[in-house]
Amino acid sequence: MNKVTVLVEGYAHPNDDGSYTASPTAALIETENKKILVDPGTNSEKLLEALKAKNLNVADISFIYLSHYHPDHFLNIRLFPNIDIYDGGIRWSGDKEYFYTGFLPETDIEILKTPGHSPEDCALLINTKDGNVCIAPDVFWWEDGKQNSDTIDDLLNLVDPFATDTVALLKSRRLIIEKSDFIIPGHGKMFKTPKLI
Ligand SMILES: [Zn+2]
Repeated sequence: MNKVTVLVEGYAHPNDDGSYTASPTAALIETENKKILVDPGTNSEKLLEALKAKNLNVADISFIYLSHYHPDHFLNIRLFPNIDIYDGGIRWSGDKEYFYTGFLPETDIEILKTPGHSPEDCALLINTKDGNVCIAPDVFWWEDGKQNSDTIDDLLNLVDPFATDTVALLKSRRLIIEKSDFIIPGHGKMFKTPKLI
């Protein structure tokens, strides 16, 4: 059975000097025979510490999955030389690209096309013993201390200043709410998906 672990919880906040600090949630999916790192982020120290705490090193990771192409989500791929990189439709292996649809190859992990924050955004839906966990960067994300994920309205009304298509984003959010039991946002804490009663 698939297992999902949050390795580094995503954070984001502006600084007094005008700069911005952000790293997304880095998650580990363990399937029967693979260890998949989702969005390695920007914080190399925390990521390596979290892997070490699980008795894993860089070479134990089967491949990296990237949810979308914002640099805070992927700069740490430099810690993993020669590893294959997957997104919602392509595996990159060196200079070769392999195409797929529907599920991450050799897994039962479903790819959900979830545009809106960025055009290429794809969330992952993972069947676990606790239910369906959706890793959904950055369909949902909050700055530190601002998470409000108690009701469906909270989730649908969440304002994303970086959204490229707010209509598509709303549709993506509805899809994830409908399909998941738990949601791991891009930046913020994992939460139970609120449902209509
Ligand atoms: Zn983003």
